[in-house]
Amino acid sequence: MKPAARYRPSFMMALVFGLFVTAATAHDLLPAASLKTHQFDYVYEEPKNPAHKPIYDALKEIQILEKLQEFLSPLRFPSKVTLKVRGCDGVINATFWDDAIQVCYEYFEYVLKQAPKSEKMGLTRREALIGPTIDVFLHETGHAVLEVLEIPFFGREEDAADYFASYILLQFPKHDARRLILGASFLAGKEAAEEQGKAPELRLLADTHGLPAQRLYARLCMAYGFDPVLFADVVSLGYLPQNRAKNCRYEYQTNEHAFNSLVKPYIDQELVKEIRSKKWFQFEPRPVPHESERPDDGKKQ
Ligand SMILES: [Zn+2]
Repeated sequence: MKPAARYRPSFMMALVFGLFVTAATAHDLLPAASLKTHQFDYVYEEPKNPAHKPIYDALKEIQILEKLQEFLSPLRFPSKVTLKVRGCDGVINATFWDDAIQVCYEYFEYVLKQAPKSEKMGLTRREALIGPTIDVFLHETGHAVLEVLEIPFFGREEDAADYFASYILLQFPKHDARRLILGASFLAGKEAAEEQGKAPELRLLADTHGLPAQRLYARLCMAYGFDPVLFADVVSLGYLPQNRAKNCRYEYQTNEHAFNSLVKPYIDQELVKEIRSKKWFQFEPRPVPHESERPDDGKKQ
C-alpha cells in the first residue's frame, strides 16, 4: 500500500518552506508605479508669536527646509509630504500628521535655551544646535516612512522613529556624523540630568516615548556600535555605561539590517550618490579620533 500522498516528506517540506517564504515576503513593496522620488514640499509659516520672528528668519536664511527637501528627495513615496515650521500656541512639539512633518517654533526656542553656552566635547554652540534640528526632522521622517510605506515593526513606533533618525545621522561623513550625534545628544543629556534627582512619574513610564535617558543611551549606543573609535569618548568619559556599550555593535547591526531590508528598497541609490557628494554642514574642520588616541573604555564607569 502506498503512503497517503498528503504525508509525503517532499510535500511537507514544500509546505513548511512555503510558510517561511510567505513569512519572508510578507512585506511586499508598494506598487512601483505609485512610488516617486522628490515627494517633499515645504512651507515656512509666519510665526503667530512675534518673539519667534528671529527663529523664522534664521531658519529661512539657512534654508533648512530647502536642504531637507533635497536631502529626502531619494525616498520613493506614493504621495507628497510637506515639511513645515509653524507656531504652535506655546506648545513645544513636532509631529507627522496629515501628510505633514511639522516642527513648532517653540521647539527651536526650547533647543536654543538648552544649548551649551560654550564649547562642549569639541562642539561649538552653533554646531550643537544643528544636531537637534536635523534629528527632530529625521525622527518625524521616520514616522512618515513607517506609516506611508506601511513598514512593519515591533515595539513602540517612537523608538523605531528614534532609531531611524540615529541611523540616518550616522550615514553622513564621519566628521559630520559625530557632531550631529553629539549635538542631538546634548539636549537629551540635559533632560536626563534634570530627571536624575527624582523618581520618574508612572505616567512618564507609560508614555509612547522612552524617558530622556533611555533615548539618549539608545542614540549613543547606535553611534558607538557604528564606530567604537570615532565615539570612544562617549564610553571613556562615562556618557554611555559599559554594560550597554558591550552590545552596541549588535544593536547597530540589527538596525542596519532592518533599514537595508525594509527601507532601502524605497531609496533611489543614484540620487543618494549625488546627495553624498555634497557638503551639507559648515562645521569647523577637526580631525576624526584615531585608534591610537582611543582612551581606555570604561575607565570612569
Ligand atoms: Zn515621534
